Amino acid sequence: MTVVIVLSVAVSVILALLLSFASVALHVEEDPRVQDIVDMLPNQNCGLCGNPGCKAMAVSVLNEDSRLSQCKPGDQEMRESIRDYLNEHPDASGEYVKVKM
Ligand code: SF4
Repeated sequence: MTVVIVLSVAVSVILALLLSFASVALHVEEDPRVQDIVDMLPNQNCGLCGNPGCKAMAVSVLNEDSRLSQCKPGDQEMRESIRDYLNEHPDASGEYVKVKM
């Protein structure tokens, strides 16, 4: 019985260490503009824009795949805020998004 407990604890510690290492080694740096855009969207995660949620919509806008008008709960003020934000915030290489209204 004691051997089983010791083995369970040892396996748990090893798996925890592996997960910890993987979270550091496989960390992907996210474009900080994604969260900024999500914060400007209505955050209803309704999917009416054709994306599975507001974060996916933000990524799609950054990739120039979606129009801001696809966000049905959003209003003109929201669209102009996001456009103005993206006109002032290029990506890491200095490229600006061509915002589709
Ligand atoms: S339509 Fe707007 S509120 Fe709904 S998921 Fe898309 S971006 Fe979010």
